[in-house]
Amino acid sequence: MSDTIKYLLSEDQVPKVWYNILADLPEPLPPVIHPGTGQPIGPDDLAPLFPMALIGQEVSADREIEIPDPVRDVYRTWRPTPLHRARGLEKVLDTPAKIYYKYEGVSPAGSHKPNTAVAQAFYNKDSGVKRLSTETGAGQWGSALAFACAHFGLELDVFMVRVSFDQKPYRRAMMETFGARCVASPSEETQSGRAILAEHPDSAGSLGIAISEAVEVAAQSDDTKYALGSVLNHVLLHQTVVGQEAMLQMEMAGNWPDILVGCTGGGSNFSGLVCPFLGAKLRGGAGIRVVAVEPAACPSLTRGEYAYDFGDTSHLTPLVKMHTLGSTFVPPPFHAGGLRYHGMAPLVSHLKQLDLIEAKSYHQTECFAAGVQFARAEGIVPAPEANHAVKGAIDEALACKEAGIGRTILFNLCGHGHFDMQAYTDYFAGRLNDQSYAESELAMALSGLPSVAAE
Ligand SMILES: *Cc1c(COP(=O)(O)O)cnc(C)c1O
Repeated sequence: MSDTIKYLLSEDQVPKVWYNILADLPEPLPPVIHPGTGQPIGPDDLAPLFPMALIGQEVSADREIEIPDPVRDVYRTWRPTPLHRARGLEKVLDTPAKIYYKYEGVSPAGSHKPNTAVAQAFYNKDSGVKRLSTETGAGQWGSALAFACAHFGLELDVFMVRVSFDQKPYRRAMMETFGARCVASPSEETQSGRAILAEHPDSAGSLGIAISEAVEVAAQSDDTKYALGSVLNHVLLHQTVVGQEAMLQMEMAGNWPDILVGCTGGGSNFSGLVCPFLGAKLRGGAGIRVVAVEPAACPSLTRGEYAYDFGDTSHLTPLVKMHTLGSTFVPPPFHAGGLRYHGMAPLVSHLKQLDLIEAKSYHQTECFAAGVQFARAEGIVPAPEANHAVKGAIDEALACKEAGIGRTILFNLCGHGHFDMQAYTDYFAGRLNDQSYAESELAMALSGLPSVAAE
């Protein structure tokens, strides 16, 4: 069946384990450092914020970690997700490349985020936690966790980055529909929020600020823990169901990808797709090129420094080694709210350092142009974040055309854009401009990087 366009797995093919690439890497991750002592942190340092099961996964060296049945049961309500051959797009581009995409927009929140939200809610409930606090950028993570908390019977407070709170009222309504409480960040509810507002009353907010608020709430309450939607090892681990399914589906298609593409905010959807493939390569499998695509307005992997830094603006988190723009860097407001984080996952940063992946950045209008071209050819309107992956894949396909080589490209279409139509409206009206970050502000944020003796 040479013209198949959709590869579907059965419910019992939902993966039974998460794949941990740390077991296959040639070098371990640099340790996480306690900012007070300058020494590597231990499990007890994280216990106020996370349940022990997740802390165990954060530092695990096991290649495979079993997915608990209650989590797998929820996964089965929308997983396995489909893998499509983008025949429409191939035709429009007139490329000899074969383009495939894994579509995570079929989940209850419309993105890959529920893959980890369900797991995190399960482990918290299992350890007796009553309430979670979290941050959200565009609202994707907040709505995914709200869905998961509703399922397992947990309360949820969401600190939503101010600019998205104003731009995306429907995401907020979705969180409230699932029973969560949603607050614009910076807020008056926390010390961190009040300090920012005192200095910048009109602050557009940032993920770094919202994380400070959510961490502060969890640290101060016994029955409340914190949940993060990206960046951490256990989050990236939970996303590997995406890549494991895609490997089976590429086998069904009788093709193996030469090039993988994903967009990177904190790095979770990208890792979810690419780590199982990279693991196979590291264990002696076929070579593969892996491309991470990020916005030019918040270019941590391409322009950041690989250094120890805080994960949040108010410096409540431990120090992690990552590509960072500096924890006080506030990216300009742009529509791919999910990509406005000052740092990159330590694991993705490490993969970049080991030369296992490449990184590229694009401006938002060229990404929207790619998303519109994709929508017209394939019938799915991508999330603005996902448009970065679409743009990256299209550029690879056009390079194949130029070189006259028919490579196989697979990208992660990590979410749909049904709640982001205002951004598309702004794009069509010519109201989107390509903001670059201010070089001077970046230099200032980077000059404030903490010094760490262990380096
Ligand atoms: C949150 C989000 C992102 C960015 O987060 P990653 O951890 O880098 O995946 C990208 N796309 C969508 C649709 C999102 O919801």
